[in-house]
Amino acid sequence: PGDHSVGLTGLSANCQLEGENPRQVAVTAAAATAVAFSIACEQPQASVGTLELSTATNGPNPDPNGYAFTIDGGDAQPIGVSATESVANLAAGAHTVTLAEASANCTIEGESSRSFTVPSGGTVSVAYTITCAASTGSLSVTTVTAGSPADPDGYTVRVDDGAPRTLGPGATVTIGELAPGAHTVLLGDLEANCTVQENPLEVTVAAAQTVSATFNVTCTATTGSLTVTITGLPDGTAAAVTVVSPNNFSQGVTETETLSDLQPGLYEVTVDEVTSGGTTYSATPPNRTVTVAAGATATATVSYGRPAAPSLNLLIDGLHLTQSTQTPEGDVPLVDGRDAYLRVFVLSNEASSATPEVRVRVYVRGDLRSTLRVPARGSSAPTSKDESRLGSSWNVRIPGSLVGPGLSVLADVDPENTIAERNEADNDFPASGTPQAVVVRTAPALGVRFVPVRQRANDLQGDVSAANKSRFLESARRMFPLPGSESDVHAVYTTTTSDPLQADDGNGAWFTVLNEIDALRVAEGTSRNYYGVVRIGYPSGLSGMGYLGLPTAIGYDDELDRSRVMAHELGHNWDREHSPCGNPGGVDSRYPYPGGLIGVYGLDVPSEELKAPSVPDIMGYCRDPWISDYTYRAVLDYRGAGSAASAMAAREQLCLLVWGRIVDGRPVLEPAFEVVTRPTLPKETGPYSVEGLTDDGARLFGFTFDAAEVADDPRRTRHFAFAVPLSQGDAARLGSLRLTAPGAQAAAVRPRVAQPSGAAAPDSIVARRIAGGVALQWNASAHPMIMVRDAATGEVLSFARGGTAQVATGSGEVDLVVSDRVRSRHMRVAR
Ligand SMILES: [Zn+2]
Repeated sequence: PGDHSVGLTGLSANCQLEGENPRQVAVTAAAATAVAFSIACEQPQASVGTLELSTATNGPNPDPNGYAFTIDGGDAQPIGVSATESVANLAAGAHTVTLAEASANCTIEGESSRSFTVPSGGTVSVAYTITCAASTGSLSVTTVTAGSPADPDGYTVRVDDGAPRTLGPGATVTIGELAPGAHTVLLGDLEANCTVQENPLEVTVAAAQTVSATFNVTCTATTGSLTVTITGLPDGTAAAVTVVSPNNFSQGVTETETLSDLQPGLYEVTVDEVTSGGTTYSATPPNRTVTVAAGATATATVSYGRPAAPSLNLLIDGLHLTQSTQTPEGDVPLVDGRDAYLRVFVLSNEASSATPEVRVRVYVRGDLRSTLRVPARGSSAPTSKDESRLGSSWNVRIPGSLVGPGLSVLADVDPENTIAERNEADNDFPASGTPQAVVVRTAPALGVRFVPVRQRANDLQGDVSAANKSRFLESARRMFPLPGSESDVHAVYTTTTSDPLQADDGNGAWFTVLNEIDALRVAEGTSRNYYGVVRIGYPSGLSGMGYLGLPTAIGYDDELDRSRVMAHELGHNWDREHSPCGNPGGVDSRYPYPGGLIGVYGLDVPSEELKAPSVPDIMGYCRDPWISDYTYRAVLDYRGAGSAASAMAAREQLCLLVWGRIVDGRPVLEPAFEVVTRPTLPKETGPYSVEGLTDDGARLFGFTFDAAEVADDPRRTRHFAFAVPLSQGDAARLGSLRLTAPGAQAAAVRPRVAQPSGAAAPDSIVARRIAGGVALQWNASAHPMIMVRDAATGEVLSFARGGTAQVATGSGEVDLVVSDRVRSRHMRVAR
């Protein structure tokens, strides 16, 4: 008994004893004393270890983003492709590690899941070896080239945007390291003559595989060949052949040979003579042209032979120059200064393929002025003369500047003697070698004043203007012997004849207007031809009318026919009667060709259109005429005499315009007018006479004349218009006029009303302005006619009849010459 100390030992670290230790206890005798210790123990700590995991990757294409591992199916953790990761605090004992996320091209050696045991407090290692195979594919590109020539420097091939690689024709190249998937393969550097069936090609590359792509290239030939075959020469004799092309290719050939790599085109094969053993060999023909095509072989066979003496002979069977018509003899004269067309007729004595050149030498007064070369127009020289085709002659235009007096022409065929002939000495024309003289005449140019005519009866006005006047002259210029023409347009002339123009001139309006235009011409005193242009209101009938031998005519304005009609009427003015075609009146009995045809070949030089001898003459009434040599010569004779201009030398002075006509044998005297102009008097005496008398019967003037015939006038009227010089005093004394015609009663005119001095009051004439002209009103019984003139130009605007007239004019003032039939009064009125 007594006190004791009791302690407890041997506790694990994780156990805790509550209360004191040791502790004091009192033991009592015979009693048991209890001591209680309370112990709390925590769970004892488990034992752990470490895993050392490593990867080692082999091969050309390692996984780009590494792998992942899991332990015992836990969370994935990354690990590099060749790396070591330590995982600590793994409970000691058995575990499993799994490696994953390797790329498809990578293979893990052994199992991907492996067991391992972690030793408590220790380390265990697990190592993976991974092999990564290639991840790209390859492309094998092949070119297959067909045709020729192949592209000599090969091609380039390019995949996507990669660098181009060269590749020969018919070659293969392999391009590696291409990512799997679609790629574009482009073939480049193709020659222009080569094409590819499909370019670029689309290919799909698979990893670790080689895919093929083939380009089918087709090249076409750009050059050709020519085989020249030589025959007919003795062995060992070199031929003399030259092959020439326009692009500076030239090569001699001495024996049969094939020339290759020739540019396509025409090749001239020229064969020169070869002499061997004293014999001359030549080929026929000596020249030929061969066409070389790309990819083909052309042939030319040169057959040499011993030439026979040539039988061919060329000569010139005449030549002529024409300006619109010409006889086979070439005796129609030309006119000075106008283009002429030369035809040289070359003949061959036999059919041949000879195409000789003609040389023409043009001389003026013996001086050589021009040498012209005329190549053959046909394929060979004709064997007979044929005027009917321009292509059968050697033709050249001789400019008007060379056509004049003293012209002569010398022609020779084959001047360089390039064609072998039996006779080389007969190639000149003329054969004497002396140039052939050509008759060239001078003629005055044609001057025309067109007068647009307005009819009061129907307001129709002929359409002629500065813009279209040359159209009227076209036929005349082409047909007639005119060196040139010049024209102007007069102010509008208003005719106050009461009836409109009729198809058969039954009312005489046509010839009345013609007579007025002639009086107008005489009043105006120029040397021009006057041509009144009318418009007709009927579909067919009279279309023109003109004087024989006087320069006045009228014609219609029909666009398709105006030029023919004007040429026809000009022919009349130049004293030509009708040619017998189309049944005209007043036929020329001396016309030489039956049916009024032109009889010889004509030529329209500007258009180079040949006119057959069966074409009708311009002086008939038939369609589409041309001019005969007969009409042409007659006009040239008439105009060459200068008849038109000769009367115009006189100076202007006071004259009396006396005019009128003989209709159906009856004389008609129109009212006379005092005008200041150049005198116009008859050139010849004749059966008609005009006299001017005083009131006492004294004769102030008088003359006989032959009135001009009007062609195309069904009634064959004759007209006259004269400007008779008269002194002022005689004019004042003039009392009457008298016109006599054989077998008819004389026409005498006196003032219609006996008029004491000053009785005709000027205010009896009323003028007022109207649109486009002036309207006049007057006492027609006192003054049967008023001549209305433009005050500024003096142009006659109307011979107004009948007491009222509306005269077209744009002028501000007009002069009136008021006739009482014999005497005139002058007034100026403002519009
Ligand atoms: Zn006629």
